[in-house]
Amino acid sequence: MSYLKDVLADINRKYPYQPEFLQAVREVFETLEPVISKNEDFYKKEAVLERLAEPDRQIIFRVPWVDDAGNMRVNTGYRVQFNNAIGPYKGGIRFHPSVNLSIIKFLGFEQTFKNSLTGLPMGGAKGGSDFDPKGKSEREVMSFCQSFMTELCKYIGADIDVPAGDIGVGAREIGYMFGQFKRIKGSFEGVLTGKGLSYGGSLARKEATGYGLLYITDELLRCHGMSLAGRRVAISGAGNVAIYAAEKATQLGAVVVTMSDSTGWIYDPQGVDLAAIKEIKEIRRARISEYINYRSTAEYHEGRGVWSVKCDVALPCATQNELFLDDAKALVANGVVAVVEGANMPTTIEATKYLQENGVLFVPGKASNAGGVAVSGLEMSQNSGRLSWTFEEVDTKLRNIMVNIYHNIETAAARYGMEGNYVAGANIAGFEKVVNAMTAQGAC
Ligand code: NDP
Repeated sequence: MSYLKDVLADINRKYPYQPEFLQAVREVFETLEPVISKNEDFYKKEAVLERLAEPDRQIIFRVPWVDDAGNMRVNTGYRVQFNNAIGPYKGGIRFHPSVNLSIIKFLGFEQTFKNSLTGLPMGGAKGGSDFDPKGKSEREVMSFCQSFMTELCKYIGADIDVPAGDIGVGAREIGYMFGQFKRIKGSFEGVLTGKGLSYGGSLARKEATGYGLLYITDELLRCHGMSLAGRRVAISGAGNVAIYAAEKATQLGAVVVTMSDSTGWIYDPQGVDLAAIKEIKEIRRARISEYINYRSTAEYHEGRGVWSVKCDVALPCATQNELFLDDAKALVANGVVAVVEGANMPTTIEATKYLQENGVLFVPGKASNAGGVAVSGLEMSQNSGRLSWTFEEVDTKLRNIMVNIYHNIETAAARYGMEGNYVAGANIAGFEKVVNAMTAQGAC
């Protein structure tokens, strides 16, 4: 067996109960085959793949909190610090009942490559808890966030590890966690990103992942002689990434025809009314089914179904493993030209292969959703320099970073004779920089 296959087999043997982590490692390692085989002795001697797949440390802790009825409740908290070869650990915190060590490890592993692609000095990490903020009162969410940070604060810092938001963690949760860190440590520092504007947050952070997704989609289409103007776009999710993806897609002249949440999806052939979506999701925190009360021409369907709609561009922006082989077949049959991931690993390996084999332009999340962490990196720079850049300054930097990522992954794939394979390009470009830094720093 080759070095790469040996390591993959070892990881599979060691972590049989971590399916999402194994899926992420397999997807990355398989595309690195041409790189590894060119210099196998070196990579083996340096144990590069073993070092990339094993986190620096994994912290798992109890999070006790008190609900409104006075009962003690307990959740599990995680922070997996994956790799700090090129900068302090950086990656979001997810609060969702599905959170477990496998999911946090897959996200932290992917984050290392993603952060490398941004060109900014940030290592990879991820954290979270199986706490579900849905249906909890403001006081309960605050109580949970404070308890979570009471433990987490021992392991993070502006030059050590800088968490941000993710599913279930928005400005409200970041605010409560920042306040608690400050109380315990007595230090006002850029220890979290995605902060409110009045206490060190960056303009355009809220919009960054969604806007960045559309900047890279725009560049992808432009380089293939197409544009977004007049294109029908299908989006899944109705959270932070999905809403600002829909906003920028609309600004660039596309028509967004679908959005969804975990209970169902809407189809609005005239183009989604974003003011209505923002009111339902950002203000009232309600279900997307309410959308039909705002637009009588729209349809609401229970369950999954976003990818059955005819569209030119598909942007999965909800969660991991939400676009399967059957969905890919439906998209291809309906003439989709590009699938660009807003979420992390939303497309299964089989679906990705089917899309690529059928000529669909496919960009993986670690490249296309890097806009969020890129602006988090810019928030860190502003915090360190005691600066506040304007929305336009941040947005221009974000656009440049996303355009650079596209050309970087395109060139990396072409260097290994895999023109147009952006999955391989993203993995190779991310890998080269991190490995260069890791091997230069000796046994660490
Ligand atoms: P939000 O919590 O704001 O929104 C998530 C959306 O996806 C909601 O509409 C939610 O529906 C839906 N969703 C979540 N879980 C499921 C599920 N199991 N099945 C169906 N729908 C689901 O999260 P974000 O928008 O921040 O994150 C979305 C994705 O983007 C994640 O994969 C995240 O890791 C990734 N990402 C986020 C970044 C950011 O800056 N926020 C940066 C880079 C990547 P409901 O409300 O019903 O749960």
